[in-house]
Amino acid sequence: MSLNSQTDALYRRQLARLYDCSAFYREKLGGAGLTDVAALGGLADIARLPFTEKDELRASQAARPPLGAHAAIDISKAARIYSTSGTSGAPLYIPLTRADVEQWREIGRRTYSCNGLGAGERVVTTYGAGPFVAGASLAAFEAIGCVHIPVGVGNTERLLTAIQKLAPEAVACTPSYALHIAEVAAAKGVSLAAVKRIIVGGEPGGGEEGFRGKLETAWGAKVFEIMGIGDIAASLWGECPAQAGMHFSAEEWIHVELIDPQSGAALALADGATGELVYTHLAREAAPLLRFRSRDHARVWTSPCACGRTSLRVRCIGRTDDMLIVRGVNVFPSAVREVVARFQPKVTGAILIRPKRKGVKQDPPLPVLVEGDSSVGEAIAKEIRSTLLFTPEVRIVAPQSLPRSDYKVKLLDYSEAT
Ligand SMILES: [Zn+2]
Repeated sequence: MSLNSQTDALYRRQLARLYDCSAFYREKLGGAGLTDVAALGGLADIARLPFTEKDELRASQAARPPLGAHAAIDISKAARIYSTSGTSGAPLYIPLTRADVEQWREIGRRTYSCNGLGAGERVVTTYGAGPFVAGASLAAFEAIGCVHIPVGVGNTERLLTAIQKLAPEAVACTPSYALHIAEVAAAKGVSLAAVKRIIVGGEPGGGEEGFRGKLETAWGAKVFEIMGIGDIAASLWGECPAQAGMHFSAEEWIHVELIDPQSGAALALADGATGELVYTHLAREAAPLLRFRSRDHARVWTSPCACGRTSLRVRCIGRTDDMLIVRGVNVFPSAVREVVARFQPKVTGAILIRPKRKGVKQDPPLPVLVEGDSSVGEAIAKEIRSTLLFTPEVRIVAPQSLPRSDYKVKLLDYSEAT
């Protein structure tokens, strides 16, 4: 059976199951006038279905605890229940059946294999095995046959000792932590020469050209980005040695769409196309989601990669939630930061966008605060205009004057908007 007919069959089966087992989807599809599963068609007609939003899952779980009306199983059938951090609301429970757990492990095995990890290779990881889905990735290292050396979160001393004594070929952590480790190692005179791969994920930054270059120089190693999405699957995308975007690791189990975040219209998956990623679980048992809006804005490639893989590739551009529209042009604060970073060391890399108007739509010039040397202000403005196709008003500010964060730095500030 071809991949297309296989995924289409799974999709039809999943829809029929959700009508039976998920009150949330029965009502949601019925509310959209889709009361008959036969009328839904196959994957080619998926755009008929309404989207699923994260807020709906929270509301569903609050109204029908503990798993929510969207869950398609009784809690006794769950093999594991993860939860989200709850930074933007109450923690959301994410149940997995035994088959779901096995599928996540296989997705993770593919992702980390794509990064080039192989049997016998030593890898130090900094993920916690706590409540969050990232812990599910740990099983992937055993599935590959790696020599897995977990050192946990935020224990830089233990990590550097492991690098010195065990000489791992790979380290997996967040991109900002990777930079911190390199700085501490340099200050302490610890050699990082054994490390050939830095596998980064869990936050944006790993895909930004300037930041990657900085990491690769600091470590003398190659950067490989990975990306998961808690509600869909851990370690879902992984970059290969060609370093040409992250490959998709769940082709036969999860359907990916690209949409225009403003209109919701489906966009063709083609080389260079950009839009928001939308996911549908074709084979998830515990809490399958249909057309889940990830809020991740990405550029995609469908042509075969230099590594020989033919799976879809992506590079994240930013969060749809942070997007501005400047006279019809989509602007992502993280993309602005990436362009500004090209001017290092004359800039620190920190920026802040301070829109003049409330809301998404802005008139040029868009104020962009840049930490650095005033001599590069005009050159930065020119580079932003030619790369991102909007006119900024670059305001140079003193180094270290913009807010810092050890988690996720804010790049948008509406305090002067009227
Ligand atoms: Zn590749």
